[in-house]
Amino acid sequence: MRLILFGGPGSGKGTQASFLVKEWGIPHISTGDILRKERAQGTELGKQAQTYMDQGALVPDQVIVNMVANRMVEADAQQGWLLDGFPRNVPQSLALEKMLEKIRQPYNYLLFLDVPAATLQDRALNRAKEAAAQSEQKRSDDTPETILKRVHVYEQETLPMIEIYKSHPKFVHIDGTLSIPEVTAAIQRQIGGES
Ligand code: ADP
Repeated sequence: MRLILFGGPGSGKGTQASFLVKEWGIPHISTGDILRKERAQGTELGKQAQTYMDQGALVPDQVIVNMVANRMVEADAQQGWLLDGFPRNVPQSLALEKMLEKIRQPYNYLLFLDVPAATLQDRALNRAKEAAAQSEQKRSDDTPETILKRVHVYEQETLPMIEIYKSHPKFVHIDGTLSIPEVTAAIQRQIGGES
């Protein structure tokens, strides 16, 4: 199974991704997770990405595209994968289509977890407040300012890409404002899977 999961920051994408990779036994390729690991290890790539991430901005396309291309040729990604956090804008989506054509790995579904930008903002700010109150901010890019910036980038760059994908035969629209189990069930109804 090859899945691409779209959704804004705080759309519940990470939660649904965990269910999906378990259910289908596929690797979770999350560009955000890869970048955070690179940063923690202090690699050149991590250093390059740091400033962009802490500002809530997108890391340059070429850096991300190369990173994903390298990940997709690894052994565990040959039987399937779930892509999370990529592509995030129109140029990245064009690069991905080219890349998949080259390695002959067409995706099965494009899943869009749809949550309105205003709701994303509310959710994210509440989460940041709660984390601050318990002084347990887990990510250095989880301040209210960067969260708002990420939602803004989502509206400006990601939504126009999704608009193009909407007419794609493999595009699946999921109402992301439902509860977590309802969203999981809605995905299963569309793509199959247990329970
Ligand atoms: P979010 O919580 O906003 O969904 P992610 O964990 O997916 O965030 O990504 C965190 C940060 O990593 C982004 O704000 C951005 O700086 C960088 N990033 C992740 N994926 C991409 C991508 N496809 N293109 C550019 N930058 C990316």
